[in-house]
Amino acid sequence: MGRIADVRTSILDSTPLTQVFVTVTDSDGLTGLGETWWGIPNPERPAAGARPIAAAVDELLAPRVLGRDAGEIGRLWFELWDYGYRYADQGIFPMALSGLDIALWDLLGKRLDASVLQLLGGPRHDAVPAYASLPPLRDPELVISETQRAVDAGIGAVKLHELTIDHVQRLRRRFGEELAIMVDVNGHFDPLEAAAFGRRLADLGVTWFEEPVRPMRDHRAMQRVRRESGVDLAAGENEYTLEDFERLLRSQSIAYLQPEVTKIGGITAAQRVATLAEHHNVALSPHNFRPGPSLYASLAYGFASSATRWFEIPWIPADRRFASNTPLPGIEDGHVLVPNGPGLAIPT
Ligand SMILES: [Mg+2]
Repeated sequence: MGRIADVRTSILDSTPLTQVFVTVTDSDGLTGLGETWWGIPNPERPAAGARPIAAAVDELLAPRVLGRDAGEIGRLWFELWDYGYRYADQGIFPMALSGLDIALWDLLGKRLDASVLQLLGGPRHDAVPAYASLPPLRDPELVISETQRAVDAGIGAVKLHELTIDHVQRLRRRFGEELAIMVDVNGHFDPLEAAAFGRRLADLGVTWFEEPVRPMRDHRAMQRVRRESGVDLAAGENEYTLEDFERLLRSQSIAYLQPEVTKIGGITAAQRVATLAEHHNVALSPHNFRPGPSLYASLAYGFASSATRWFEIPWIPADRRFASNTPLPGIEDGHVLVPNGPGLAIPT
C-alpha cells in the first residue's frame, strides 16, 4: 500500500455555486478524489464560502497525514477526529475531514481495483428510486419546465426548494398523482407556520417535508409539526456526530434521515449513520447537491445500506453548469442503477 505523498484542494467556481475537491496522491502516483461541503453561495464573492473549508484541509489535515499509509483509512479517521475535537465536532473541521476521507476511499478502491461499494460489502439493492432535486427557482414556469426535463430523463420524483404552496399545486395539476413530490424549505418557517404549510402538503400527497422549522435542529418543534400536519418529515443534513443523529432519531420526528457525506466526516462516518438508520428502522436518503465525488460517495454508502429508500440527484437548470462537469449516474425507470468501476465509480 502506498504512502500519502500529496494532498491538494481545488475550488471549482461555477458562480454562484462552487465545489471543493480534494485530491490525494500516494507514493506510487495513484490518486483518489474527494469532495468537501461547498459553502453558502455568495454571488458577490464567488468561492468565498469554500475557502475556509479548503484551508482546513490544507493547513490542519494535510500536514498530519503526509507520509502515512494511504490504506489505513479507519485509523487516520479516528486520529484526525480526536485531533480536531478542539476545533469542534460540527462544521468546518468535519467538512474538511469528509473531503480527505472520500478521497482515501476512492484511492483504496483504485488500488484494489474494486468499487468503494464492494469494499463496503456490496449493494443491498439492484436499483434505488431517484428524485431530481431542483434548486430554488421561484419562477413557476421554470419549476414546470425543469420538472418536465427530469421526467423526460426517466426520473419520477422531484424535490422543490420553493416556499409557497402554488408550485406544488401546479405540479399536481400538470403531472398528476404519479409524480412523487418532496418539499424542502431549509428551515424557513416558525413552528406554527410550518404546521400550517405541512397540512397543505399532506393534502397534496407530498412524500416528505424537509427541514420545516427554524432553527433547523429544533427537534421538538419538528415533532410538533409532524403531529399537527400529518406529513412525513425529512432532516439530517445539518447533523454531524453519531450523538446528533441519535438525538434526532430519538425525537421520533422524522421518517427520512438525510446525512450529508461532505459534512459528517465522509464515507467512514456515513456508514455508521446508515447503521443507525437501520437500527431505528427509519428510511435513509443520502443528502447531496453536487454532481461530483460526493454524489458517488453517497451512492456507495447508500447502496450498501438496507435502509436506503431514495437517492437525491442534483438537478440544475438547463442553462447552468457545474465546472466539474461530472456526469450523472445511470437512471432507468426512475431508479438509480448500481455504479460500476474502481473507487467511487465516477463515469468518465
Ligand atoms: Mg435540504
